[in-house]
Amino acid sequence: MTFRSLDTADLAGKRALVRVDFNVPMDGGQITDDTRLRSALPTIHFLSGKGAKVVLLAHFDRPKGKRVPEMSLKPVAGPLSDLLEQPVAFADDCIGAAAQAVIDGLENGGVALLENIRFHAGEEKNDPAFAAELAKNGDLYVNDAFSAAHRAHASTEGLARLLPAYPGLAMRRELDMLDAALGTPVKPVLGIVGGAKVSTKLDLLNNLVARLDRLAIGGGMANTFLAAQGHPVGSSLCEHDLGDTAREIMAKAAASGCELLLPVDVVVAREVKPGVATRTLALDEVGDGDLILDAGPKTVERLLAAMDASKTLIWNGPLGVFEVPPFDIATVAAAKKAGALAEAGKITAVAGGGDTVSALNHAGVADQMTFVSTAGGAFLEWMEGKTLPGVKALEV
Ligand code: ADP
Ligand code: MG
Repeated sequence: MTFRSLDTADLAGKRALVRVDFNVPMDGGQITDDTRLRSALPTIHFLSGKGAKVVLLAHFDRPKGKRVPEMSLKPVAGPLSDLLEQPVAFADDCIGAAAQAVIDGLENGGVALLENIRFHAGEEKNDPAFAAELAKNGDLYVNDAFSAAHRAHASTEGLARLLPAYPGLAMRRELDMLDAALGTPVKPVLGIVGGAKVSTKLDLLNNLVARLDRLAIGGGMANTFLAAQGHPVGSSLCEHDLGDTAREIMAKAAASGCELLLPVDVVVAREVKPGVATRTLALDEVGDGDLILDAGPKTVERLLAAMDASKTLIWNGPLGVFEVPPFDIATVAAAKKAGALAEAGKITAVAGGGDTVSALNHAGVADQMTFVSTAGGAFLEWMEGKTLPGVKALEV
């Protein structure tokens, strides 16, 4: 993949239309987590520092093509201005005279935020006429919203065809890190896939077994594999109807030389409650009514050894019900090991997924990992080997 570089772009006095992800969690008009605003700061500072007029495009929530006052981006302008330490002008609409007037008022290096692009139905339809209206506001287009790149919308895909298009700094870093983890990784590469169900991660498992040297399977989805091999799983979460699918994935792994690491022991309880009595069992000791809620110590030990023997780790999905201690033990042990190896420069460790990010924060190691993707659906689709329209449109 080759992209234009902002480093060599002519930016002074130019209007840069920048797609960002400002779909932040809000409670009563207050932002409760400003991570997404912070991720956009490097690109905004860079462009502004080079004298560009920075025009920010973003969506918020799902207004479905209509103006919904509660879904206005206006409450974001103040907090963004505080973080940037410079004024942020707000335009009441992302196209037309309102946008034009605010952009015309910007000095070189100034920043404007335009109203929610999803107030227009043309955005999600990727309507060329709407994209053309947006393009009137810019001399160049910068996409810094990897998390929206799995959607072919006017602001993520259409615009890239109408203006010289560049990845922003956060987008660039995400693409570089994903490439280092799965595109052209240093071998041996270990994957960890956990979480609740096989059915939500079929494409992921199929893509990973074809590409990795080792793949550890944990969480509820491991139960489906254990059952497919004839082991008892008691009352555990298990997709018994996916036995054939699990066996196909195991066969595919064997054929492509990917060593599967399935649990060799498990932690069970009778209910999912903090601090309940637990038992560690060998696979064939699981009884009726037992719930497998975490990986056992032997399984963890083998996983940590596999990490020591790897140069690259890619991780999605917790190994147990980490929200309910003590079923966080395996996930926390694996997270601490990954963080320590990454911090020591022994491994490139990349992780992503909503619950995976929570689990890494819970273990206190998110900062030690080489990269933690907060891109959700876009991260998963990329790991599934799918082409992301918003990334493809930036290629030259
Ligand atoms: P991510 O959001 O990182 O992609 P998932 O949503 O696929 O991860 O999976 C996370 C969920 O899987 C968590 O809510 C966790 O409680 C659940 N889970 C993990 N192990 C088990 C298990 N053994 N039984 C039931 N649920 C599990
Ligand atoms: Mg999840």
